[in-house]
Amino acid sequence: MSEETGAEESLEIPQEINYLRISITDRCNLRCVYCMPEEGVSNLSHDDIMSYEELKSFAAAAVATGINKIRITGGDPLVRKGIVDFVEMLNDIDPGLKISMTTNGLLLARYAKDLKKAGLSRINISIDSLDPGTYRNITRIGKLEDVMEGLHASFDAGLEPVKINVVVLNSINDDPVPFAELTRELPVHVRFIEYMPFFNDPGKWYISNDITRAKLESAMKLEEDKGPEGWGPAREHFQVEGALGTISFISPVSCHFCPSCNRIRVSADGKMRTCLFDQNGTDIRDLIRSGADIGELKLVIEKELDRKRLEGDHKPKPGTRIRAGDHMSRIGG
Ligand code: SAM
Ligand code: SF4
Repeated sequence: MSEETGAEESLEIPQEINYLRISITDRCNLRCVYCMPEEGVSNLSHDDIMSYEELKSFAAAAVATGINKIRITGGDPLVRKGIVDFVEMLNDIDPGLKISMTTNGLLLARYAKDLKKAGLSRINISIDSLDPGTYRNITRIGKLEDVMEGLHASFDAGLEPVKINVVVLNSINDDPVPFAELTRELPVHVRFIEYMPFFNDPGKWYISNDITRAKLESAMKLEEDKGPEGWGPAREHFQVEGALGTISFISPVSCHFCPSCNRIRVSADGKMRTCLFDQNGTDIRDLIRSGADIGELKLVIEKELDRKRLEGDHKPKPGTRIRAGDHMSRIGG
């Protein structure tokens, strides 16, 4: 117990908070049932969105506080014009920065090579099913063949590692075996992610990764593996005997991972969040537009990082169904 407050001490957040997720747009060319309504969410206006120059200033200030890994996300990051130039702008801050992207992959066949050239090293592609009909049902409008083309283009471009994010929905795409079979053929790292009930939840989609893992184990032998170098919450890495790729599980609901969280986020409209569940975030955009320089931004970020370390594990957890302050498509996952 804390002597001052009488409250329980926070569980520790790692002192090294070194990972920034930048959502560059709230727009998306898919409408995944668990992420967006069919009609989409009302898009931010051009003025609401941080320009690439503004995002670069924020990123440079974050790097000055010790951030050394940046993931670009969205909405879908590949739908924003100038994305390749933006990767280059981030790379110019410090060529040692590790830059990655999370995308639905639909436009990767077009962009993978140029992204790699601009400084992107790794890629996460969201593919929730390998069955064309199920993929279509989940994304409402996506064609599996387009994302598979993007997956292969990522390998051809030399992006490494290539990971696949699978959000598992009960009775919809809850057979993990086809993805495990894919790891036999391709050096791909499949991550089964527990669905977090943020939006549009009919109350029946959540399924624990314990069940997903048990299904896999009853179908094939899994060997423990160290997995690819990870930045985030993936734990429990496995490999099917003789496979080229790996399998891991991200379990935000059944295995709450706040205590090991090393990340901060900024949304396309300039809200910095030190936690997915922060309601409003800190307004970075207005700060930059009112003339704050990198030194001033650095101070603001440091203050927020101190607050994150102090608050520790005292955050609402996904399983409690307390909503994040915005749509996932704005916060960027
Ligand atoms: N559009 C890109 C994509 O789908 O990869 C990037 C943005 S998306 C919001 C980032 C990640 O969040 C995706 O892997 C997506 O599947 C995941 N996601 C979205 N809503 C989620 C939810 N309710 N529970 C778990 N993961 C979710
Ligand atoms: Fe778009 Fe990604 Fe949300 Fe699907 S999960 S609707 S691809 S932002």
